Amino acid sequence: MPSGATIVWFRLDLRLTDNPALTAAVQRGAPIIPVFIWAPEEEHPWAPGAASRWWLHHSLAALDADLRTRGSRLVLRRGPSLETLRTLMRETGADVVFWNRRYEPALIARDKQIKASLPAESFNSALLVEPWEMKTYRVFTPFWRAVLARGIRVDRTPPAPTRLPAPATWPSSLPLDALELLPKIDWAAGLRAAWKPGEAGAQEQLRRFLKSAVLEYTANRNRPDLPATSRLSPHLHFGEIGPRQIWAAVAPKADASGWGYLRQLGWREFAHHLLYHFPHTTDRPLRPEFEQFPWQTDPDRLRAWQRGRTGYPLVDAGMRELWTTGWMHNRVRMVVASFLVKDLLIPWQEGARWFWDTLVDADLANNTLGWQWTAGCGADAAPYFRIFNPTSQAEKFDPNSDYIRRWVPEAGTPAYPAPIVNHDEARRRALQAFEKLPRATTEDTE
Ligand SMILES: Cc1cc2nc3c(=O)[nH]c(=O)nc-3n(C[C@H](O)[C@H](O)[C@H](O)COP(=O)(O)OP(=O)(O)OC[C@H]3O[C@@H](n4cnc5c(N)ncnc54)[C@H](O)[C@@H]3O)c2cc1C
Repeated sequence: MPSGATIVWFRLDLRLTDNPALTAAVQRGAPIIPVFIWAPEEEHPWAPGAASRWWLHHSLAALDADLRTRGSRLVLRRGPSLETLRTLMRETGADVVFWNRRYEPALIARDKQIKASLPAESFNSALLVEPWEMKTYRVFTPFWRAVLARGIRVDRTPPAPTRLPAPATWPSSLPLDALELLPKIDWAAGLRAAWKPGEAGAQEQLRRFLKSAVLEYTANRNRPDLPATSRLSPHLHFGEIGPRQIWAAVAPKADASGWGYLRQLGWREFAHHLLYHFPHTTDRPLRPEFEQFPWQTDPDRLRAWQRGRTGYPLVDAGMRELWTTGWMHNRVRMVVASFLVKDLLIPWQEGARWFWDTLVDADLANNTLGWQWTAGCGADAAPYFRIFNPTSQAEKFDPNSDYIRRWVPEAGTPAYPAPIVNHDEARRRALQAFEKLPRATTEDTE
């Protein structure tokens, strides 16, 4: 029997089922002190954006409620993390800290330092495969083949504990509002209408998807007008559900469509693999020749893009969906991102920043991959000459214009702005700019 309590430091693993750090704490048998530490400066320059903070607030509230039904609670503190953990250990007599790993470069460095300073153990709640367990890949298909060949073990998805051993006295906790995660001016009505943050919300979303959409996933996943995808991305980002749980629910009964869905989880794994092996790619292109690209500064056009007033209905529909709900369909993300970097020649980093602040699923690994892929400067990227035509993409993937009508009801009327660029001319301009780049200095290889 251990002598001291166990601190379980919650981070992006805001759930009680299939939570390896929590399971290990329960197995240890000592009182458990669940804690969340708000220390956004430690994530600099990628501290959570406004939409993420909104989600986090509600997810922490849900986690606390879930813990309370098990005789426990969530202790909230402000950072710095190391000093806060040290203080908590002193206050509670805890002799070890357990946590589940994060993969952002700044946090890997911080966690290493904490591990060197305190008795601590870390676990994997977020990935099917740890990035360092594989050799380094720059192309998705061989990466995914190797992951599948290795085998994905989902036999370790323990249920939520029914009771958590509590300490004799609880250490003090800040009230949730003291973290000031919610916006001062309430702009979040659209987010509230669209989402239910927390573990129960994640499970509901998974059930909804498994009931029918998964069967048509491959056929419909590119249709923004249909509820065809799982919408689990924010829940996955905050760790309200883990990929092993999704795998365990989908894989045993998967047909071709189910496997198509699981392959998307593979892209999430690949994104984390790349972030781990190429940490500079959050801000700089993986392909160094793109450092020379003649990007343009154009605040007016950037603003028109951000506000959904480009005069291209599919682009504007996506940007307004993002602004209102904190989420955008993947096909439309590709179209709006291509429009920004290729039609407007605005640096992909500007787009990544805007997404970072407005997406509820803003995720450093997935967002970096998505933007570098679209800009053509990342691993396994779309070739530079693949420039999405926003008009034909709309005809193909929103065939009845339902999606556009929903978000841009004034499209086709005099109230709607004229296009801010002519796509055919912009396309030619982009191709000329790309052709002037020095020859590739890196090749896609395994
Ligand atoms: C420019 C750009 C930026 C993006 N930024 C983000 C981001 O910040 N956070 C984020 O989670 N996703 C991002 N994506 C990937 C993708 O658009 C979303 O994961 C997806 O739209 C989420 O919806 P869903 O949960 O219904 O996906 P589903 O189709 O149901 O897929 C299931 C899960 O697989 C993962 N996934 C699916 N597609 C991708 C992908 N292309 N790359 C990585 N993971 C994927 C997600 O975790 C998703 O929840 C970005 C894509 C682009 C093109």
